[in-house]
Amino acid sequence: MSRTMKAAVFEGNGVFGVKEVPVPAPAVKEVLVKIEAGSICGSDLHVLSVPPGQYAKPGTVLGHEFLGRIEELGSEVSTVKKGDRVIIEPIVPCGMCDACRRNLTNLCENPSILGQTVDGGFAEYCVAPEEYLHPVAEEIPAKIAALAEPIACVMHGMMELNPQPYERVVLYGAGAIGLIFYNMLKSYGVRHLAVCETMDSRIEDAKRCGVDFIINPMQEDVGAVLKERWGGGPDVGIDAVGAGAVFEQLVGLMNKGGRILIFGQNNTQTSTVYPSQINTKQLKIFGTMAVYHSIPAAIEMMNGLEDQLAKIVTHELPLDQFEDGIRLLREKKALKVVIYP
Ligand SMILES: [Zn+2]
Ligand SMILES: [Zn+2]
Repeated sequence: MSRTMKAAVFEGNGVFGVKEVPVPAPAVKEVLVKIEAGSICGSDLHVLSVPPGQYAKPGTVLGHEFLGRIEELGSEVSTVKKGDRVIIEPIVPCGMCDACRRNLTNLCENPSILGQTVDGGFAEYCVAPEEYLHPVAEEIPAKIAALAEPIACVMHGMMELNPQPYERVVLYGAGAIGLIFYNMLKSYGVRHLAVCETMDSRIEDAKRCGVDFIINPMQEDVGAVLKERWGGGPDVGIDAVGAGAVFEQLVGLMNKGGRILIFGQNNTQTSTVYPSQINTKQLKIFGTMAVYHSIPAAIEMMNGLEDQLAKIVTHELPLDQFEDGIRLLREKKALKVVIYP
């Protein structure tokens, strides 16, 4: 008789729940991971909304931001061993599509995505391919290590943008991603850093996380505030919101030679910009998606930032209360929710 476990399963059309499912068995090049913790992502909310903002296959166990301990090895696994504590990289590219062949594996047209197209981490166990496991030190608390994937997405953006300590940076959005960016920018040594946020609860979260320069673009003229404080505009602008108005504002605000990173994603948004501002100011515009060889960097960056990153996790719940975690995030009462099976 096969063993069963608890898992948060997506049933389709916004329906989901925690139920008993069989414990999976690893294929030859896979491992069975006993899950320690997972965190709920904005994309989980997109999957669970009606109509869905992101696709997931009905019947799939949710969760793509998680870590655990290897409990069983497939017969051909050679680089990890039982008992290893690992973070699981959730997007497994096909290796054969046009994007993969051009080394843009993060943009694979036909990926397996843990938690969306194959079973993910809001469960007691999960199987994962050997080559998508990343060791993580025992000293890193589970609730921090559970953030490895979003931190790695942010690090992908940081690696493209390459902000320097002497540059002025304006960051739009003080949600979980915005506050991860804030911590990474601070560790890069950025001294002049402004955070723009319109939502009261998030302004409070930003203050709680130590942000000392917050501008509410609904109430203040961002350009005027920056000019008064810094004597000029930003060299680097980051959109961690995904709103068309943010891109519009950034193009107008940027210093000559400035760089903009579009990170937040919302497929319904449009923007009206003056293209001439892009060439007359010689702006560089970057877009980054998902994790791109950035999980080791994320794991490295966690070291020494545990206390700061811990403030982003506002709720820790058992798997049985997964639905409460989703509700808290939908109602914007939580910033980041970590789930323990
Ligand atoms: Zn995520
Ligand atoms: Zn591919």
